[in-house]
Amino acid sequence: MNVNKNYKNLNESYLFSNIAKKVNDFALKNSDMEIIKLGIGDVTLPLCPAIIEALHNAVDEMARKETFKGYGPEQGYDFLKTSIQNYYKNFEVSLDLNEIFISDGAKSDLGNILDLFDKDNSCLVPDPVYPVYVDTNMMAGRRIIFIDANEENEFLPLPNEKIKADLIYICSPNNPTGAVYNKEQLKKWVDYALKNNSIILFDSAYESFIDDNNLPRSIYEIEGAKNCAIEFCSFSKTAGFTGTRCGYTIVPKELVFDNMSLNKMWLRRQTTKFNGVPYIVQKAAAAVFTEEGQKQIHENLNYYKQNAKVISGTLDKLNIKYTGGKNSPYIWLKCPNNMNSWDFFDLLLNKIGVVGTPGSGFGKNGENWFRLTSFNTLEKTQEAMERFYNLFK
Ligand code: PLP
Repeated sequence: MNVNKNYKNLNESYLFSNIAKKVNDFALKNSDMEIIKLGIGDVTLPLCPAIIEALHNAVDEMARKETFKGYGPEQGYDFLKTSIQNYYKNFEVSLDLNEIFISDGAKSDLGNILDLFDKDNSCLVPDPVYPVYVDTNMMAGRRIIFIDANEENEFLPLPNEKIKADLIYICSPNNPTGAVYNKEQLKKWVDYALKNNSIILFDSAYESFIDDNNLPRSIYEIEGAKNCAIEFCSFSKTAGFTGTRCGYTIVPKELVFDNMSLNKMWLRRQTTKFNGVPYIVQKAAAAVFTEEGQKQIHENLNYYKQNAKVISGTLDKLNIKYTGGKNSPYIWLKCPNNMNSWDFFDLLLNKIGVVGTPGSGFGKNGENWFRLTSFNTLEKTQEAMERFYNLFK
C-alpha cells in the first residue's frame, strides 16, 4: 500500500491560525479596546425571507407521503436548472439544461473537476490566488505554473504566448484582489485557450457583486468561450449560502477533446461519485431567482457594497492605492510606506484594533499588500475606517 505522497508537498497554511493567535493575544492584553474584524471572508447577514419560506415549504413537502422526495438527480432538479438557465439569459448567454450541474458549492467542483484531466497536464495559476486552485493540483501531483498578478498589470495578468498551460484558472471578480477582467481582457484568455487547446476554469463566485454592466459576469459572454471554458458559480456570497451549501457548474457540450465530451464525462463522474444537493436546499436556491428573492438578496448585497464604499472612500481620502472595492466585496490595498504585509497587520491590530488579512498569505505577489472585506456591519466598518483614517491622515 502506498499513500498519495503528493500530500507531503502541500504547504501548511498558517495564515488564519496565525491571525487568530495574534488577535487572541491582543484581546487578552487590551480588554478595553473593541477589536473590529475586516478580515472576514464569510457572509454575516442571515438568509432572506423568501429563501427561508422556500425552505419551510420544502420541509413540509418532505413530511407528506405525496410530496416526499428520495434520491434526486445527482446533477440537480430541473426547476433549479431552469431558473439558472433564465438567469443567464439576462447576460445573453444561452445554456442547455444539461449543461448546468447543481453542486454543493464552487469549492467542491473546482477540486472535483480535476478528475476529468490527465495528471500530466500543466496548470496556470495567478499569484496571489485563492489557495484551493493550488492545493487541489498539488494533491494530484500536477505541475503548477504561476503567473504574476501585480501592481503593473493591476492584478489582471494576461496570457503570454511563451508560457503554455493546459488548465488555466481565472477568478473574476477576484479573491483576494477584487480586480475584475473586462470583456477585451477575457477575450485574450479565450483566444489563447482556443489556440493552445487549453481549458479555462472560470470561477465566478463573486459575479453578483458586479454593478458595472459593461463587465462580464460570465465567461460565456465572450465569443468562443463555450469551446474552451468551464464556469463555477455559487450561492455562497450571492445569497448567503455559505452554511446552506449550493452552487452550480456549467460544462458546455461543445467541449470535446480526443473525441470525449467533458459534459458527458462530468455527468458520469457526478452520477458516480456525488449524491446531489438536498431537495430542500435546491428549493431554497430556486427562491433566489424569484422576483421577491432577487429583490431581497440585492438588499443584502447592497449592504455589503455600501461597506466596501466606506473602505474604498477612506483609502481614496488617504491616497492609498488599492484594487477592488467596486464590483467586489474585497479591497486589496498597498501597505502605506511600503510596509510588509505582516508588519502592517501588527500595526493595525496594535494601534487601532482592526484586523485584516496579510496579502503575503495568498502568494509572493501579495507581499506589501493587504486584504480588507466588506462583510462586517456598516457601523463597525465605519468605526474601523474612522480609526484607520486617524492613524494615517
Ligand atoms: N471561489 C472563490 C474565489 C472563493 O473565494 C470561495 C469562497 O470563499 C469559493 C470559490 C468557495 O465557494 P463555495 O462556498 O461555493 O464553496
